[in-house]
Amino acid sequence: MGRERKIETTCVQAGWNPKKGEPRVLPIYQSTTFKYETSEQMGRLFDLEDSGYFYTRLQNPTNDAVAAKIAELEGGVGAMLTSSGQAANFYAIFNICEAGDHIVSSAPIYGGTFNLFAVTMKKLGIDVTFIDPDAPKEEIEKAFKPNTKALFAETISNPSLVVLDIEKFADIAHSQGVPLIIDNTFATPINCRPFEWGADIVTHSTTKYMDGHAMSVGGCIVDSGNFDWEKYKDKFHGLTQPDDSYHGLVYTQKFGKLAYITKATVQLMRDLGSIQSPQNAFLLNVGLETLHLRVARHCENAQRVAEYLNNNDKVAWVNYCGLPDNKYYNLAQKYMPNGSCGVISFGLKGGRQTSIEFMDNLKLAAIVTHVADARTSVLHPASHTHRQLSDEQLIEAGVQPDLIRFSVGIENADDIIADIEQALG
Ligand SMILES: *Cc1c(COP(=O)(O)O)cnc(C)c1O
Repeated sequence: MGRERKIETTCVQAGWNPKKGEPRVLPIYQSTTFKYETSEQMGRLFDLEDSGYFYTRLQNPTNDAVAAKIAELEGGVGAMLTSSGQAANFYAIFNICEAGDHIVSSAPIYGGTFNLFAVTMKKLGIDVTFIDPDAPKEEIEKAFKPNTKALFAETISNPSLVVLDIEKFADIAHSQGVPLIIDNTFATPINCRPFEWGADIVTHSTTKYMDGHAMSVGGCIVDSGNFDWEKYKDKFHGLTQPDDSYHGLVYTQKFGKLAYITKATVQLMRDLGSIQSPQNAFLLNVGLETLHLRVARHCENAQRVAEYLNNNDKVAWVNYCGLPDNKYYNLAQKYMPNGSCGVISFGLKGGRQTSIEFMDNLKLAAIVTHVADARTSVLHPASHTHRQLSDEQLIEAGVQPDLIRFSVGIENADDIIADIEQALG
């Protein structure tokens, strides 16, 4: 058969496939509802006997085209857009966990996800054990219990920039009979496709590089279709036993490889409703069309900025996995040979106060909560995103108190470096 198209072409072309006379550009289906000819037709949709749109809280054609593009970028069988990255990670877990269950998560992860797992999910009765991702396999396996339902980690952690040994994590998850869920926000499928290394589910905050312009908050869950839920029938009973809210339908029997992502859509999205707006999905698609170009430029610029910082004697330390002396250089070369991401972290001699003054002196780089968009931006996690964490939790999440998170944009690298130079004084 025909050759598989390259990822750059997928960025530009996938998802929306217009037929004769239809718009070339993905339209925004700005409609909550969809019309049918007979009551019978509509009833069959509610029973999942037919597929079709009926209400945008569950599915919308604009969203589905964008989800299909992301599924193809990741090499998955299906995807679902969510209103934010937070919703994506919550749904990814909640789709297979309930009160009384437990998950194991890498400790160095995004502060919002850390809070979600450590505080909010505990209130729902879902417990978490955080582990050091660099610990040996045997050590990590000790965190698993009979009620453990998933292993979670980030490809490149935000903001500590720990690079995950995905194959090691996939081995651990599968030896324990649970899926590996990877948040691939920072690497994006341009630099790393976790399914190729054994991950089962991938999540994204599309708010970051995928949108790329800081225009819309969004998230996505992608299903590889590879995890064998039926093999652990009792453990994943939500997928393998009858769902009373659909007259006893069994997801694995009816939807096969699409069981997980279908359940997330028709059950969780129906009941919890964090859908992405079609308008935002449209903007996300515009971002995705240039993802390959932007990510390459982010990485090229970040490499130059990291090298500049590394050679500057006002800088105490630099963390960027593209630097050969970085702890994660070899892992990054293995999993992301073309580049990792545009985010660098570093600390200045003089510590926390000097770091804050440096940030205030920057002119081109703006202080914003955001990362991973076209404009260079900067943040002090201990004062901003991770403010809620105790010092102990900060260290556990891999965030030193003097850490500056520097998100390198796609401007000219000379201008970014000149701004840093003048701000260092
Ligand atoms: C930003 C981020 C999130 C949360 O996404 P939102 O879109 O802000 O809800 C989750 N994971 C990672 C790695 C992130 O960077």
